[in-house]
Amino acid sequence: MYVPEDCDSSNMMEKLITAYRFELVEDHHSPGSGRYGVLVTLPEDISAVLPYLNSLLDDTWYDQDNQVLIGSSNGRRYAFRPHEIQIGVIPDASAASRSAGEVVDLVNRVWLERDRMMPSSRERKLPTIYALFRLLPRALCEKPCGCPSCLAFAADLRTGAVPLEQCPLLSTPQYADNRNQIVALFSASRSEGSGPAADRECQKGD
Ligand code: SF4
Repeated sequence: MYVPEDCDSSNMMEKLITAYRFELVEDHHSPGSGRYGVLVTLPEDISAVLPYLNSLLDDTWYDQDNQVLIGSSNGRRYAFRPHEIQIGVIPDASAASRSAGEVVDLVNRVWLERDRMMPSSRERKLPTIYALFRLLPRALCEKPCGCPSCLAFAADLRTGAVPLEQCPLLSTPQYADNRNQIVALFSASRSEGSGPAADRECQKGD
């Protein structure tokens, strides 16, 4: 169990994450691909910080009902749940410890600064994996996307782990309509999230 730095007793009182474990995990959507991420497990429930992270991170997808927040910071993709943080693909295994420490530090800093921040409960729901999968080429190809199958690509596309451009077939005229439909799926999710019902910023103290 790791304890974040700067752990004198007064600061520990303010920290949301006081200890954590991390492990290197193979990309479960792409077993055998040699791509790895990091799973950070937490004894504390970090649900309370999710609305603040939702207002801070880039390109967030927030599902309050299921307490899942996906977002990016400094080009790295994260998925936050009450007792875990998944870190998207890391450059190599030696980056696991540093990456885990960075995201724990991020959460603790946001928690410490929360009184200065406006939390956001704005929701964006991701398209389903199947909705994306059925629009992919599903062709006999040599997997230039780096995923073992279109289904794996759909799963990664959903969470932002891979960009749409990583499937070169979608850039061909034959699949132009499919590509447009996928873009529209994500756009629809965005407009749902920014609509009047969902775009409800929390008031401080909510
Ligand atoms: S390159 Fe495209 S068609 Fe081929 S497996 Fe990847 S997502 Fe599917």
